[in-house]
Amino acid sequence: MEQTLIILKPDAVKNKHVGHILSRIEQEGFNILALKKVHLKDKEAKKFYEVHKARPFYKDLCKFMVSGPVVVAALEAPGAVEKWRKLIGATDPAQADANTIRKLYAESKEANAVHGSDSEKNAKNEIKFFFSKDELKGKL
Ligand code: ATP
Ligand code: MG
Repeated sequence: MEQTLIILKPDAVKNKHVGHILSRIEQEGFNILALKKVHLKDKEAKKFYEVHKARPFYKDLCKFMVSGPVVVAALEAPGAVEKWRKLIGATDPAQADANTIRKLYAESKEANAVHGSDSEKNAKNEIKFFFSKDELKGKL
């Protein structure tokens, strides 16, 4: 079994797509290990996206991620990292395949509905970033 960290971004929450996306997650066979709604602080968004610090979109991305609440979850499935990335589609919804989550629900390249970890190692770190040991209750 493998885990991944996902975020339903402020646009998905604002547009009331949370129920649809969580339903799709269950339909696709993921197990939801942990789940919560949070409103990130500026400092937290900057830390989470630190890998993109040098990219031109970093500042705007951080601003967007604190613009409203998000829903974060740790998911489990065989090959969860790749399975989720395949299900969400390309970063830019205009380039995303039909029926992917970003194609169905994203607003734009920045407000693209969801995040997914890009490797098993980053997934572990990102899950720990959002969930305490107690919240995970030995699930990792
Ligand atoms: P994520 O990490 O959120 O799952 P990703 O791996 O598809 O998305 P990254 O390249 O890691 O994409 O970029 C992180 C996030 O930064 C994107 O999801 C998007 O919200 C934003 N982003 C990326 N490229 C651009 C861009 N050119 N313009 C505006 N926002 C961008
Ligand atoms: Mg990424």
